Amino acid sequence: MSKSIDKALVEKIKENLDSVNQRIAQSAEKVGRDPSGIKLVAVTKLMPLDVILAGIEAGIRVFGENYPEQAAEKIASLDSEEEIEWHMIGHIQSRKADTVCNYFDMVHSLDRVKIARYLNRYAKEQNRILPVLIEVNLSGEKSKYGWDASSDEDWENLLGDFRKIAVYKNLNVRGLMTMPPLFEDPEKTRPIYKELTRLQYFLQENIPEANWDELSIGTSFDFHVAVEEGATIVRIGTEIFGPRTMH
Ligand SMILES: *Cc1c(COP(=O)(O)O)cnc(C)c1O
Repeated sequence: MSKSIDKALVEKIKENLDSVNQRIAQSAEKVGRDPSGIKLVAVTKLMPLDVILAGIEAGIRVFGENYPEQAAEKIASLDSEEEIEWHMIGHIQSRKADTVCNYFDMVHSLDRVKIARYLNRYAKEQNRILPVLIEVNLSGEKSKYGWDASSDEDWENLLGDFRKIAVYKNLNVRGLMTMPPLFEDPEKTRPIYKELTRLQYFLQENIPEANWDELSIGTSFDFHVAVEEGATIVRIGTEIFGPRTMH
């Protein structure tokens, strides 16, 4: 790599990464799961390029970003020899859908039909299939994105939208994503993740033509709980890279 890399930062990231991976493995083993079935997405939102380069040097190959344009800029100037996977985990405005489609390998934050339509269109233009997760809001908090799934009496009403999305030929529905509210105690997220698993079963029964296997849950704060509750993808920033610096 041409850019000089902060060796101390690489060591720090490696250390943090080891610790996170160990804790993922411990939580998985606690409930009899194979830790290799859990993918770690390293979240670099608001982090400068140097941090991403150090992360790659530390062995990270899967990154998550929230802001399409900032991410596109970083990805475009990365110039890494490694095969890197980019996951979009933030809210997507319709006029950014083409950027997302250009730069990302997977979208976790599909939160309305309109965005699915846009992403499908751009993916089709690029002659590719884009894997997506459907974002649901299980707490009913107004500040959260995603389909409101806080009351299971309303789950039937989700089926229309989700069937529409399942039909898009250039999108590949792979499962669900949710962000719980900010709690003081990570144990408080457990009931929300249990509810997500119930919703997953409901969708497997009602929309079997789509695949609902993936559950993208768990951040620095509560990934141990998320892994115990069935996370197949965890999205972790702070515990790997430290507090976010760039604003
Ligand atoms: C920022 C963010 C994360 C990572 O949060 P940390 O607390 O830094 O681990 C995960 N998911 C989403 C959607 C985020 O916005």
